[in-house]
Amino acid sequence: MIEVTLLRGRERRPLAGHPWIYRGELERIRGDPQPGEQVRVRDSRGRFVGMGYINPYSQITVRLLSWEEEAIDEAFLRRRIQKALEYRKRVVTDTDSFRVIYGEGDLLTGLIVDRYGDLLVLQTLTAGMERLKEAIVQILVELLSPKGIYERNDASSRLLEGLEVKKGPIYGRFDPVVQIQEGGVRFWVDVAEGQKTGFFLDQRENRLALRKYAAGRELLDGFCYSGGFALNALSAGAVSAVGIDLSPAALNLARRSAEANDLANRCTFKEANAFDELRAYERAGRRFDMVILDPPAFTRGKEAVAGAIRGYKEINLRAMRLLQEGGILLTCSCSYHLDAETFLRVLQSAAVDARRRFRLLEFRTQSRDHPVLMGVKETQYLKCAILEVVDA
Ligand code: SAH
Repeated sequence: MIEVTLLRGRERRPLAGHPWIYRGELERIRGDPQPGEQVRVRDSRGRFVGMGYINPYSQITVRLLSWEEEAIDEAFLRRRIQKALEYRKRVVTDTDSFRVIYGEGDLLTGLIVDRYGDLLVLQTLTAGMERLKEAIVQILVELLSPKGIYERNDASSRLLEGLEVKKGPIYGRFDPVVQIQEGGVRFWVDVAEGQKTGFFLDQRENRLALRKYAAGRELLDGFCYSGGFALNALSAGAVSAVGIDLSPAALNLARRSAEANDLANRCTFKEANAFDELRAYERAGRRFDMVILDPPAFTRGKEAVAGAIRGYKEINLRAMRLLQEGGILLTCSCSYHLDAETFLRVLQSAAVDARRRFRLLEFRTQSRDHPVLMGVKETQYLKCAILEVVDA
């Protein structure tokens, strides 16, 4: 087995349970490892740190899977996947769709598995996980008996690992467009062409949270994708919803889902740029009781945070101006590099410019099937604030 040695003083983070080891933290690699090969990691004094896999081509050169001296074999993977499933049984209720395995959050760095009804969607994002793919598929079939498994390995991060970008069915025969249900609301999901693996499972608990405030309201969903927030609000008693998105494919799914829930007469889904559309509503004097903002990440790197802050400020300022007295704004940021404190500061600064006061009803994060692992800060990325206009 390949052995790697950490530089002196670099053992603290891996020993605290963080799985990533950067190239610059390695003192020595014994042997000539191929991408994805398993390794044993030792500290500079030769003491055992953990077991994982290596990719000499990746900046994150070693990723740890275990902090015990044990083989990373099928039995190991089965135990980890079983643990992940047991956890979901405790925290996921009333849906047939959820994230089964969330990489680092389930101590399986590089692996994502989502369940949509009787389909599974798989992502192996690293060379190490790619090597384990066959074993993982077998275990998933055994434990979950899916009708099919679809591989969504079209994430560009695979290129950094020297892996090809590809997608397609890898087990069973099935239609990649499926209907799921979440808290009694039906959604059409396209696991082949949809964004992420087809649906924003990470927002499930936030969609549920929104339902409590929805009754009787007129709602605007600025970045609606396939209608997740809008249809939940309508099913919880909102009187009307307008959904806006740039993606015609997403809007078609939203319309089909509205039909499937008998909600089509209370909503419209419109292809437009949310920045322009919110401005147009403001000019026209149109107001809403509830606005949802769940834009895509405005930054993927540390460098672009300033630009992202301007984007969040502008879109939130516009939304705040559109709210009726007593109105509610549910606003999110999925940019990992913009931390919670900064996001709240941006919201407050937008509120000042909008000359309105807000009560912070809830400050939330991603659903618990995307578990945040203490000490691995990269596992937490989603921020969701629910604000209410405070009337003077
Ligand atoms: N809230 C949704 C997920 C939203 S994802 C849910 O719970 O399912 C963000 C969406 O914003 C994507 O569908 C993307 O197509 C859309 N989008 C990106 N830029 C946009 C823009 N400028 N105006 C409107 N929609 C945009």
